[in-house]
Amino acid sequence: MKTYLGSCHCGAVRFEADIDLSLETLRCNCSFCKKIRWWAAIVKPESFRLLCGASELSDYQFQRRVEHHLFCRHCGVPPFCIGQSPRLGKFYGVNIACLDGVTDDELSWVPVRYVDGRNDEWDKPPAETGYL
Ligand SMILES: [Zn+2]
Repeated sequence: MKTYLGSCHCGAVRFEADIDLSLETLRCNCSFCKKIRWWAAIVKPESFRLLCGASELSDYQFQRRVEHHLFCRHCGVPPFCIGQSPRLGKFYGVNIACLDGVTDDELSWVPVRYVDGRNDEWDKPPAETGYL
């Protein structure tokens, strides 16, 4: 477990999160994740700290409206989301692509679990994953 700093593209939103990048990260094929190429580590609320930019975030919700898909209103980048699930309770989804100070080599070794969110199958990978 390591504490990473992260930010949106313009830097208005900054956070830190305690993540073990040797554990799984998620890529999903649902209608939203596919369009923004979402790549996330799921962490508990106590492992996430928003350092600045709360007022710069816009919130997007769809379908059941249980997740807050937050994005910077200046640069459009989504640094994290806040969700709620029966299994996890409240959680933060941290955008791996927004972590600062992580090398390309480190990122290339991060394990990815693919989930078939499009069919509401969160324990199964979709048939095709190469495009995610
Ligand atoms: Zn920004």
